[in-house]
Amino acid sequence: MSGPNKTYDPVEVSALDPIALAQAVAEALAAFAAADSLDSLKAARLAHQGDSSALSQANREIGALPPTAKAEAGKRVGMARGQVAKALATRQSELEVERDARLLVEEAVDVTAPAARRPVGARHPLELISERIGDIFVAMGWEIAEGPELESEWFNFDALNLGADHPARQMQDTFFVDPPDAGLVLRTHTSPVQVRSMLERDLPLYIVCPGKVFRTDELDATHSAVFHQVEGLAVAEGLTMAHLRGTLDHFVEALFGAGLETRLRPSYFPFTEPSAELDFRCFVCGGSDDHCRTCGGTGWIEWGGCGMVNRHVLTACGIDPDRYTGFAFGMGIERALMLRHGVKDMREMVEGDVRFSTQFGMEI
Ligand SMILES: [Zn+2]
Repeated sequence: MSGPNKTYDPVEVSALDPIALAQAVAEALAAFAAADSLDSLKAARLAHQGDSSALSQANREIGALPPTAKAEAGKRVGMARGQVAKALATRQSELEVERDARLLVEEAVDVTAPAARRPVGARHPLELISERIGDIFVAMGWEIAEGPELESEWFNFDALNLGADHPARQMQDTFFVDPPDAGLVLRTHTSPVQVRSMLERDLPLYIVCPGKVFRTDELDATHSAVFHQVEGLAVAEGLTMAHLRGTLDHFVEALFGAGLETRLRPSYFPFTEPSAELDFRCFVCGGSDDHCRTCGGTGWIEWGGCGMVNRHVLTACGIDPDRYTGFAFGMGIERALMLRHGVKDMREMVEGDVRFSTQFGMEI
């Protein structure tokens, strides 16, 4: 053994042997060809191109050759490695094309397939409009008041100037609750909340009370035994009909549209004096269509009752009627919804069909 490099031993560097080299190349090409996935190709690459592969070993052994042998050996090993690298790249791109084609099939979206979506619920439009009404008044500094739906007769009638023998007590078809001498009813209006508020809260008082009320009505297109009202009450020194009118003007405009004219027609309610019916200009025809379905051609929409709180009601609630005055108003929320959204039949609101609610969408 001679030469500058003492570590060279032709026996030990068998990896450089042309036959061994050709075999290593053949094995690598066979392994790449047999690889049927990118993962198995990666494993084959590590086995035949990795640090411990025969080709890498041969490459390392070139450094141990005498200078005269290096060029020839380097060329041979380089060609072998180039052949393997080329085969690898070819197989790699073949497998990538196969994978992409497979993914296109596997992940294809059938846009005609029915969606397996759960339907998104919606809040009931009556609740939404109740909150909208509440917001209009809260924005003016009023408070929301609530009270029990099972109410004592005193709160529901007597305190509101509807004595036991008052004929107006018969105006409302009442659900009385057993036993009869318990004096309990399902409230026929939200007015008892006003009485409770006057008894419980300090003056001045500005409250709005939306809530459920009950009458012995059969369910039809315009009646329901359970429906919703919103009432407002203001009690302070110096309140007049002008304050009532201004409040109602704002309420109507906020709910039905700017610029809607209102009018008050004289009426009668036991708990207000003077009393009035509230009408507002038809927001559909503005009074110009004799055949308008919304207003019946009258140009006006009837919407609720109002008036100055009766002195007897103030007295019953412990308020001095010579010092304080108050105004009150009340309207049906179902009617507001029917007007505002063109709902034709009250039954749609109580039947619980989600297709009705979802039309109104989700509003938070
Ligand atoms: Zn009209």
